[in-house]
Amino acid sequence: MTYIDGHMHLENGPLTKEYVLQFVEAAHQKGLDEIQILDHTHRFIEFEPIYERLKQYDVQKTWLANKDMKFKDHLSDFIDLMKDIQQMDLPVKVKYGLEVCYVPEYENFLKELLGQYSFDFLVGAIHSIDGILYDMSFSKDLLWNRYDANDIYKRYYELVFQLIESQLFTQLAHPDTIKLFQIYPTYDLKPTYQKMAELLKAHHMKAENNVGCYYRYHHPDMGLSQELLQIFKDNHVDLIYASDAHQPQDVGNYIREATLQMN
Ligand SMILES: [Zn+2]
Ligand SMILES: [Zn+2]
Repeated sequence: MTYIDGHMHLENGPLTKEYVLQFVEAAHQKGLDEIQILDHTHRFIEFEPIYERLKQYDVQKTWLANKDMKFKDHLSDFIDLMKDIQQMDLPVKVKYGLEVCYVPEYENFLKELLGQYSFDFLVGAIHSIDGILYDMSFSKDLLWNRYDANDIYKRYYELVFQLIESQLFTQLAHPDTIKLFQIYPTYDLKPTYQKMAELLKAHHMKAENNVGCYYRYHHPDMGLSQELLQIFKDNHVDLIYASDAHQPQDVGNYIREATLQMN
């Protein structure tokens, strides 16, 4: 069995070899064969324009204005660092990419910017719905308590479909984390899941079995819901385990259980 962790963030540390090697060491300790290191696009100065619409709400504006976390590094510094890491003799294979916030209005901007660099993989993620983040503590006030869950889910999956069809990405981040607060729509999601599976196949994209929702948000599903996992399997969608670690000690969390589910 080959163990790959397809999604971990450097965002809580500096862009240094020492910090990256803590992730490599953690992966080695847990018996992993390969890791994919990425960061959110909101770490990098170059991507600031795509977050413009989030500034419509003060809480989101404040979140983006935290200079310790947001828009603090140049993309080239991350890529140069990761290329240096790849030159080293390490016990675990290391790939690098980004977790890109897909914002349809900025698709051409993203295409242009991402095209200037080379990556081993690119993860596309939906983190906001028409300018409102859905996964923050303040999202209940801004989104969940104000809009109908059916409308939120419908719009979320429309955005996911657009993300896949943009052809910008090799991997879809946490396909069903919209469930993180355990608020569900009243309509049947199966046809939506079926369409997502077919689109992922058609565009040769991997889907994550991301356990972040389980240990970071205490959702009862370890990764994908049983229903979605089964539809992905039935449609032979390529699955990749993702810890969504934000610190070295979370690398490979639940990887054996989650990998078993996928096979
Ligand atoms: Zn994400
Ligand atoms: Zn992530």
